[in-house]
Amino acid sequence: MLKVHYQRQLGGWQKPEIMPFENLSIHPAAKALHYAIQLFEGLKAYRGRDDKIRLFRPDLNMERMNLAAQRSGLPTFDGDELIRCITRLVQIDQEWVPHSETSTLYIRPTLIGTEPTFGIQAPESALLFVILSPVSAYYKTSTDGAVSIYADPNVVRAFPGGVGNRKVGSNYGPTIEATARAAKMGHHQVLWLFGPDHELTEVGAMNIFMVYINDQGDKQLSTPPLNGLILPGVTRRSILELASQWEDLTVKEEVLTMKRVIELNQQGRLLEMFGAGTAVVISPISRVGFLDEDISIPTMKQAQPVFQRVKDTLLAIQYGHIEHPYARII
Ligand code: PMP
Repeated sequence: MLKVHYQRQLGGWQKPEIMPFENLSIHPAAKALHYAIQLFEGLKAYRGRDDKIRLFRPDLNMERMNLAAQRSGLPTFDGDELIRCITRLVQIDQEWVPHSETSTLYIRPTLIGTEPTFGIQAPESALLFVILSPVSAYYKTSTDGAVSIYADPNVVRAFPGGVGNRKVGSNYGPTIEATARAAKMGHHQVLWLFGPDHELTEVGAMNIFMVYINDQGDKQLSTPPLNGLILPGVTRRSILELASQWEDLTVKEEVLTMKRVIELNQQGRLLEMFGAGTAVVISPISRVGFLDEDISIPTMKQAQPVFQRVKDTLLAIQYGHIEHPYARII
């Protein structure tokens, strides 16, 4: 594991250390344990057919980490320096990067406020650590290979002026009850809505996308805009950038409401819904539970689905089948 201590009184960041994995020893009054003065990130190391190991746009994870640090009074840092440290860590542990194109080595950078005082203030001391774990695509699906999602308009994940757009732990604990309730009803994930119009924000810990025939009769790929309620996903951004170069598809960031979803679906214009994130890349959605409705989405019935094209493109970049600047060989 990698550890970097921060001590304001000693001039800030101390020398990074890579050491055998071990438990942390932490003061019970550490601010991270009481006020969730902490943040985390998630990225992966992919082993390609050429045996080279790649990271996918780690600079964006560093940027997002620093934004979260700012919001929580945690110390910011030089993202390039942390990428260098992570690169070294993965190089040392390179045999833990699976020799497989269905598995990866998950990288979990974490930053916690360790100052052992009860004041709700920026911590004088902090610890940045990075741990690793081999993973496969771990979300459960239905037999059709897609997920079923449940939207409860009475529960919100994020709100204007809040921290929905930051990867802080305090966004995740409060999702557990709603997710367990959805699971009891036979759904895999929660669709997070916001506001009186039931705006779609995210699905589980993924960004949400829709493909439909727009008013001009064109096929459109849409996702909600980054309005503060949505985590700026690395996968989301990459999909928008890649798909905007595909001439047969209109790409748009726009507010999507449940009313619009239902309307488009009834008119036969809604083609696909899917979630996107580092964990599973793309997760097609075939069913949405909302109030008393059980809505079937024809995502798995498309001849040439956009979700598959997006997924294939991302995987090809991540595993080095095509050379692309998003993939960084380490
Ligand atoms: N939304 C939330 C709430 C998440 O936790 C994640 C995972 N980081 C995402 C979206 C997807 O982001 P990314 O593509 O950067 O993994």
